[in-house]
Amino acid sequence: MNIRVFQKGFNYSQDGTGNRLILHLQGCNMHCPWCSNPEGMPMDGVILTEKEWLNESCCPKGAVKDGELDRQVCDLCEEKSCIRNRRQKGIRLSCQEYSVEELVRECEAAKPMFFDGGGVTLTGGEISMQFEAVKELLRKLGDKGIHRAIECNGSHPRMEELIPYVDQWIMDVKHYDEEKHREWIGVSNQWTVRNLERVSELHGDVLIRVPLIPGFNDSREDAEGFAGLFKEKIRGEHTRVEFLIYHEYGKGKWEQCGWEYRMKPGRIAPGVQELFENTLKENGIACVRT
Ligand code: SF4
Ligand code: SF4
Repeated sequence: MNIRVFQKGFNYSQDGTGNRLILHLQGCNMHCPWCSNPEGMPMDGVILTEKEWLNESCCPKGAVKDGELDRQVCDLCEEKSCIRNRRQKGIRLSCQEYSVEELVRECEAAKPMFFDGGGVTLTGGEISMQFEAVKELLRKLGDKGIHRAIECNGSHPRMEELIPYVDQWIMDVKHYDEEKHREWIGVSNQWTVRNLERVSELHGDVLIRVPLIPGFNDSREDAEGFAGLFKEKIRGEHTRVEFLIYHEYGKGKWEQCGWEYRMKPGRIAPGVQELFENTLKENGIACVRT
């Protein structure tokens, strides 16, 4: 079985405990307009361009003119010779494919780096888009004694099957209101809510993450809405919630993918994160900042 990965690297404590190897897996079923890794959305990957290195020699078909890539030419191009040569800085495909065994070997070789309770984190994109291969990878990493964390959007109907293979579970919940979720992200939040209930009941280490997005979920009413949802659905004592503040770090990547960044300029006002944390705490829900 193979897995498509669009980014790999080490990171300390943000996506799980200790120093970790973070594998970003290709493909996502949601379309969050604020996504900081938009290149991870399409299942087959996307051609990324880097302006300062993009020139006519990057494409034998003449699709690059005056420093711009004509993606309509790419849509009709079958050879895609530009991305077969992965050394080009000006043009590349977002992802690369590895066998599960290759990734296990790489993770094993990285073991000396997993200090302070570290290990491997699978994140995205959305990891469950490659469900069977992910399950296999997690199982094999467990066999090697490697600590496993996942970061997911909770929307896969079979999510629960991964519970035995995950040591630390991080799950994003973007909105408590189904209509608003669908309107902004393109899919319902129903499976995420169902999985929130099941995973918090059955797993001993769950971190729920809510990205606070201006105009989407950052009002006082929204704080109450999240508190109501979590009060009703979070079952276990080992579940904490973290509110993350919106940033525009991904904006440049949208341009590299040839897409428009549709978020309007805006920011989360000072005090909003505290308001959300305090509203949850008043409802008996534990909040953390990692
Ligand atoms: S996909 Fe084809 S047309 Fe587009 S840049 Fe690559 S080689 Fe050129
Ligand atoms: S769920 Fe995550 S990876 Fe998918 S589009 Fe939203 S922010 Fe991006």
